[in-house]
Amino acid sequence: METYQYDDFSININRRGANRFTKVSYPIRYGRFSEINTRDYIFQFNLNGEIKYIQDNKQRWQFPGEWLKRTVSDEWTYYSAAGYGGTYSFIGEYYLPCFSQPQNAISSTYIFDQSAADHALSSFEKFLEKLKTLSSDKMPREVKKFLKCVTDNDLDILKRKGSEFHSVINGRITVLPPDSRHVDYEVIPVIVADGCLYNCGFCSIKTGKDFVLRTRQEIIKQIKNLKKIYKDDICNYNSVFLGMHDALNAGRELIEFSAENAYQIFKIEHSNMKNPKLFLFGSVDSLLDASEDLFESINKMPFYTYINIGMESADPKTLALLKKPVSAKKVERSFDRMLDINKRYGNIEITANFVIGEGLSGAHFDSISNLTAGRLDHFFSKGCIYLSPLSCDRSTKDLQRKFVELKNISRLPTFVYLIQRL
Ligand code: SF4
Repeated sequence: METYQYDDFSININRRGANRFTKVSYPIRYGRFSEINTRDYIFQFNLNGEIKYIQDNKQRWQFPGEWLKRTVSDEWTYYSAAGYGGTYSFIGEYYLPCFSQPQNAISSTYIFDQSAADHALSSFEKFLEKLKTLSSDKMPREVKKFLKCVTDNDLDILKRKGSEFHSVINGRITVLPPDSRHVDYEVIPVIVADGCLYNCGFCSIKTGKDFVLRTRQEIIKQIKNLKKIYKDDICNYNSVFLGMHDALNAGRELIEFSAENAYQIFKIEHSNMKNPKLFLFGSVDSLLDASEDLFESINKMPFYTYINIGMESADPKTLALLKKPVSAKKVERSFDRMLDINKRYGNIEITANFVIGEGLSGAHFDSISNLTAGRLDHFFSKGCIYLSPLSCDRSTKDLQRKFVELKNISRLPTFVYLIQRL
């Protein structure tokens, strides 16, 4: 790492962050990045010179050590320490990522700090203007090159790149698998299928389209174009999300094809980050229909794979209320298959989602605890249960109380599903 001092700011080029994702209660950065430290803010950049993190240097934010992070689709997320109390117990992480739009009822008390974000971004814009006026005559070549990348990537250019990202994947990632929290949602999405099997009535993130596979040619083109979008920073990624809502239903051959090509074309073997991960969603039917071959193949891949299944409830009346066209019996069978696969395959972890909400019946909550407590005779650390609040207008306190009740009796790790998009 090289450090250069200018009037009232310093530049650190090619800083080395952690090479494994980890859960810590202080700000941590991963892979390689560069940083400009000013009196007001710390600006951190990815390997393309695109701003990625902003941290306050003057203790104006709610808690020290919080930060703003920009996603590849050019959205800002505020990482709130939320007072630290209880955050880990609720979401399994020390920091709560909050978007500018409230998406997560359970976290509605810890909202995105819009004024903090506005001030930080306008300061960044002003700082870019200042950088453009700096004389580069005596600058080392490395600094000149870095500052050119930084000033070339102003906020308008980044916005345009965000739109290009959506064009390349031909869609929007309205929700990431909850398990991608393990890599701080730092996944490269490769869409292998659109739509979903059920188009459940209660779901607000569905596309409303029927399930359709993408062709191999479309997938390869997407992977190659994504490589261009992530450019030099691709070597800071080690995780892939096979989208969208039911990639498990794409079958063994297309999953193998997509995962293997992503691994090779993104050069994940040489990533700055160790322990590659693959994430996908599945459904009750795709889990029950999946052949043993599929799991054997996934288990041999160079990734540790998380498959998240939307089960929602094992109570027939609640499933009818949610307009989810699966039977409670199928949900129970898919839960049993999840437990079985988690025990037998070392590189696969299947997790499940259930809904929580004020208006739901006691039978619904009993159906969850019958599975999460009744199907295991001791605690098992593999296979998280995610409880997903139904809407944003419920009482946060009631939801939290219900969550704690279910968590306390569950014999599987149990957390709130934090909806994150990309
Ligand atoms: S809950 Fe899952 S299966 Fe149901 S509509 Fe939403 S994305 Fe589709």
